[in-house]
Amino acid sequence: MQLPPLLQQYAFKYSGKLLTYHELKISRRILDYLLQHQYLTITPGITEKLLFTTCNRCMNRQSHLFGKIPSKKNFIIYCKNCIQMGRVSTNEPLYKWSGPSVTNDQIKNPLHWKGELTSLQQKASESITNTIKLNNQVVIYAVCGAGKTEMLYQGIAEAISHGKRVCLATPRADVVKELAPRFRRDFPLLQIAALYGGTQDQDHNAHLVLATTHQLLRYQQSFDVMIVDEVDAFPFHRDKTLPKAVNRAVKTKHARIYLTATPRLDMKVKIALKKLPVVSIPMRYHGYPLPEPIFQSVFQLEKKLTANKLPEKFKQWIRDRHQLQRRYLIFVPTIQLAENLSKLLKGMPHVHAASPDRDYFIERFRGNRIRALITTTILERGVTFPSIDVAVLQADHHVFDEAALIQIAGRAGRSADDPHGNVSFFYEQKTEAMVGALSYTENKNKEAKVWLE
Ligand SMILES: [Zn+2]
Repeated sequence: MQLPPLLQQYAFKYSGKLLTYHELKISRRILDYLLQHQYLTITPGITEKLLFTTCNRCMNRQSHLFGKIPSKKNFIIYCKNCIQMGRVSTNEPLYKWSGPSVTNDQIKNPLHWKGELTSLQQKASESITNTIKLNNQVVIYAVCGAGKTEMLYQGIAEAISHGKRVCLATPRADVVKELAPRFRRDFPLLQIAALYGGTQDQDHNAHLVLATTHQLLRYQQSFDVMIVDEVDAFPFHRDKTLPKAVNRAVKTKHARIYLTATPRLDMKVKIALKKLPVVSIPMRYHGYPLPEPIFQSVFQLEKKLTANKLPEKFKQWIRDRHQLQRRYLIFVPTIQLAENLSKLLKGMPHVHAASPDRDYFIERFRGNRIRALITTTILERGVTFPSIDVAVLQADHHVFDEAALIQIAGRAGRSADDPHGNVSFFYEQKTEAMVGALSYTENKNKEAKVWLE
């Protein structure tokens, strides 16, 4: 059925989503019209059944994450868990498009990228394309720097040429911001929406949606292809609502692609039991091995740092970087240590999740305007600086689990012009995570060597 133009517009804006009244951006009068004619239907924002209160947007069921506002009759209950996306309450429902569905036009040959894939990338690319054709699922288990984005291109092109709608979800807004211009350049004919907290973009049934995982909470039965980047990363890994959001955002028939360099145990088990097909990419796109971490043991490291003394080995590592004219990142476990270290190193810039000038310093580092940067785990993954060395101070701290250390080591040696970076772990007591990160690197390098031969 052909809708009148205005209704057609609403269909494009609303279909496949669960939105608050505020997000519909229409008057009450139009809302009433759309409800009366069943173009929109109401889903309660919060349901209270037996002992459980459930938020129908973020699927939160934890009682301490609900708030109460006194009202004339009783109380209004609202969800605190997803409040940053606008309030959902017993008084504020969600709206869903139930009019005629919309379809995207099929765009033939949407991919304008002229680059070439390595044979390993090609293997992953074929598997992704087949998975999309057959509405299956696959895990792409690829080391940091394997060139994941390019592996996705052919599959995305295949989906788009059949009028399918694709979502690439990633835990970090930085990654959405980094990917959006690349996709716009390489798929110039597509409508692409880049969604993260504070974004200006809107999704009017775009062909391709690049979104942080939290943005998926606004979707229902929307995507034919769901690509989940860094599936092992926080917050996807710890926040149980986000996997549910992924499940709700996809259509009944869909393809799902998981990307990870460091799968968690539950995924490894599924892979081992052959419940999840996997393609393993042990080598970087430039064909050089992953830099192996160098263990630098320091006697009484914590005591020294508490007394604001820098260990000699660490000072030597920094002097060497300057002598070799290398750029470097220093990872530290806490904001406190980031600040202290910055003072001890004559005001070397530092960044952490809450630092106001975080973007400024990251951009300056990226643009080669500063040689070194102290950081907490915020720069652990997703970001690419071409030619750097990496130190982890207190690598034995509990915030550095195996996946974190592998990802941090994965920041070094990313460029084909300079594929060898120095990765040094400074520690007092060797941890399982450190040993695990080293053996991961050794194993991947062995696998890659076998592939090359
Ligand atoms: Zn909620």
